[in-house]
Amino acid sequence: MSNTEYDIVIGLEVHAELNTDSKVFCSCKNEFGSEPNTNCCPVCIGMPGALPILNKKAVQYSIMAGLACNCEINDVAIFERKNYFYPDLSKTYQISQLVKPISINGNIKLDSGKIIRINRIHLEEDAGKLIHDLNDTYIDYNRGGVPLIETVSEPDISSADEAIEYLTKLRDRFIFAGVAKCKMEQGGMRCDVNLSVKPKNSNILGTRTEMKNLNSFKSVFRAIEFESKRQIDLIENGEKVIQETRKWDDNKGISLSMRSKEDSQDYRYFPDPDILTVEISRDSVEEIRKHMPASKQQRKDKYINEYTLPEKDANILLSDKLIADYFEECLTYVNNPREVANWILTDVLKLNFTDIIPISSKHLADIIKMLLEKKITRQNAKQLFETIIEEPCEPLELAKKLDMLSTITENELDSLIENIIKENVQALNDYNKTPDKIIQFFTGQVMKQTKGKADAQKARELIVKHINNNLS
Ligand code: ADP
Ligand code: MG
Ligand code: ZN
Repeated sequence: MSNTEYDIVIGLEVHAELNTDSKVFCSCKNEFGSEPNTNCCPVCIGMPGALPILNKKAVQYSIMAGLACNCEINDVAIFERKNYFYPDLSKTYQISQLVKPISINGNIKLDSGKIIRINRIHLEEDAGKLIHDLNDTYIDYNRGGVPLIETVSEPDISSADEAIEYLTKLRDRFIFAGVAKCKMEQGGMRCDVNLSVKPKNSNILGTRTEMKNLNSFKSVFRAIEFESKRQIDLIENGEKVIQETRKWDDNKGISLSMRSKEDSQDYRYFPDPDILTVEISRDSVEEIRKHMPASKQQRKDKYINEYTLPEKDANILLSDKLIADYFEECLTYVNNPREVANWILTDVLKLNFTDIIPISSKHLADIIKMLLEKKITRQNAKQLFETIIEEPCEPLELAKKLDMLSTITENELDSLIENIIKENVQALNDYNKTPDKIIQFFTGQVMKQTKGKADAQKARELIVKHINNNLS
């Protein structure tokens, strides 16, 4: 073992599927989970004579992705054919971008202040999917032609932790810009790890390997830890790192040699003669910039500074764009961020759901509004919530039907309690023995006679007042 210390050098290539309605060069549906080979047409399958038509929305989303990562947007974008054969690519070429990608020169800043430079973000089409079972391989072309953006970082990342932070931030930028869902478990975001090592503080980069298509942050982390150690061990043993593409085996936790690394020349890139050069006017870029949705950080600042939410609560609301959007939608109906946040954090988030929140923002807001206007009690608000989760309906109608709308004035409550106490002398006399139990008993009577419409807090106060009056 020598005493050499090493730097780890990592550059990431991240693929993210755009969430446009249709594919990038045809009008087939861009949808995950459809019956295999149902979202296909001559264009995305690559039948002779079929002509691609560029999806404007995919270009617009790519520009938004670039702006979200502080990129410059090129004034022309060129689409090229990247030629190779693989069964999931029936056209035998992928339409991609080499010389003039949509976005260049961006960056992501880590919490430490370190800047990870982004070389480019280009637009290309996804390939189909091979499904292997024991003996056979099946091909599903539904994914072929789905718009994909590839974000290529400079080799500025120095550890597995930094890689994960960069990926998390990149994912958040895309998700909150509304251009991609980045669901890694569905292959909606995949990552290639380029990695080399070099003696600490040397200016010369070492030979790199590339591990392709890692589909979870955990695999990225483990692949980096494994591969950096493998390369350091090689060098320490006087051997050389070979430039190659390696496969990460997540089950075994090791990377394996797959093939020698191909060069861009190997792909015989040339401009696709079927697709015109795209001109991106400065005006259109400024127009898009003006309408960019707020980033996660901007929304967090607003929740904390304007809505005065605790940072912890802001973080939970923003941990899922679905929840953050829902929160803000509720606020358009009822302007009380604290109250709405509390309902979401305690009541909505305990429900079991994935993509659809079981109560609409309008309905939740209606309940909260009735509560804040003191039309219903808090207990009844909770009951409305539980009922509407089971079977959606108008909160106001339901409150009427269940006779929850409070019509009791404080005076009425006061005389009701006075009567109840007079009618239950025995309970009153037991008060000093078991005060809590007696208060509970009287509260129960009040709730029974008012059908739950009395405010529990208020009722309790009045009960204590009357007991004391009667006993003194
Ligand atoms: P290619 O097109 O052959 O994949 P690129 O130059 O586009 O090569 O680089 C791909 C990725 O590899 C980029 O993220 C880049 O930062 C990274 N990279 C390049 N050289 C190295 C190196 N020596 N060590 C680690 N990463 C590297
Ligand atoms: Mg590459
Ligand atoms: Zn198609």
